[in-house]
Amino acid sequence: MISEKMQGYVKNSSAIRAMFEEGKRLASIYGAENVYDFSLGNPNVPAPEAVKEAALHVLNEEDSLMVHGYMSNSGYEDVRKAVADSLNNRFGTHYDESNLVMTVGAAGGMNVIFKTLLNPGDEVIAFAPYFGEYRAYVTNYDGVLKVVSPNTETFQPNLEAFEELLTEKTKAVIVNTPNNPTGVVYSAETLRNLAEILEKKQKEYGTSIYLISDEPYRELVYGGVEVPWIPDFYWNTIVGYSFSKSLSLPGERIGYLVLPTEMDDSEAIKNAANVATRILGYVNAPSFFQRVVARCLEEKADIAYYDRNRETLYEGLRKAGLSCIKPEGAFYLFVKSPVEDEKEFCEEAKKQNLLLVPGSSFACPGYVRLAYCVSYEMIVRSLPHFEELMKKYR
Ligand code: PLP
Repeated sequence: MISEKMQGYVKNSSAIRAMFEEGKRLASIYGAENVYDFSLGNPNVPAPEAVKEAALHVLNEEDSLMVHGYMSNSGYEDVRKAVADSLNNRFGTHYDESNLVMTVGAAGGMNVIFKTLLNPGDEVIAFAPYFGEYRAYVTNYDGVLKVVSPNTETFQPNLEAFEELLTEKTKAVIVNTPNNPTGVVYSAETLRNLAEILEKKQKEYGTSIYLISDEPYRELVYGGVEVPWIPDFYWNTIVGYSFSKSLSLPGERIGYLVLPTEMDDSEAIKNAANVATRILGYVNAPSFFQRVVARCLEEKADIAYYDRNRETLYEGLRKAGLSCIKPEGAFYLFVKSPVEDEKEFCEEAKKQNLLLVPGSSFACPGYVRLAYCVSYEMIVRSLPHFEELMKKYR
């Protein structure tokens, strides 16, 4: 008998599995090259050559017992120091190894931080549209996820609605910029206003409210757009990073948390995150890839490839009569469904072998998400099918 809580999680994940199965079914009928699967955020650009070189160096030159052994639950000290130095160079911060916890990707990092912070019933706020897994990361520790309704004009956070959701029980707020699913980068002005509200509410309630900045797409920005460094705006910020997308290493499960000294209860949180990493069963982030990424901190995957995809798909969809905000980062387009029920639109799209994800999966019905971390050729081949699909809605 599986637990009641797991029954809910299993039910929710069946929608994703159904989409995956549908892709396989269509490919077996029409051939893989005639199915246009925009459903998955799995990078299609290979990891930079430097990753392979670093991996070979670590294997050939470093002590095998050390490379594959246990270390501090927070990660190797020299790796954490290298990450801290890189952040300090880029953002003018003053971190050292004690401010870093190496994690099992961004997902592992978020589980560590919620395990560390949440008492049952504590509230965590996310802004719609948001990455659907946040709900599980919060409810895993009996937290309550509260969702701010979307601002569909700009897809910047809806701060008026946000202010109303804050209570004495709010323990944390999640932001994700560049954003999955919209590709929007939150502006400095948005972040300044968000920080002002948080500071006001902390004072009013006499509590600490932690801003969790989930940043797997930090390096994926186009046209020279700057992603503001969020701890500059608000001292109770915890940054969660991942190399899954920036270095195209999603299967290696490697990332880190930044736990700044300036935040409230910093020492206790750093100690607890170390223990959380152990007792969640991660024990530590993968040892080999900690050592590899430490040698690739200034590297990134081929962003130009995603940029060309972004331009081509965005223009193609517009020509077909669809509308969406032009994304500045990540590798997603969040497109307005031509009919209110976007699930119905996804079903119509399937008839053209186009696989799209309904916005309801991101708490934003009426929209669909397209992941453009796919081959450029697939995008080009898919465009006549979007034209065909849209004939129905003219
Ligand atoms: N957060 C967001 C917004 C994501 O889109 C993803 C993965 O797609 C994750 C977290 C999880 O990333 P990781 O593979 O590093 O665990």
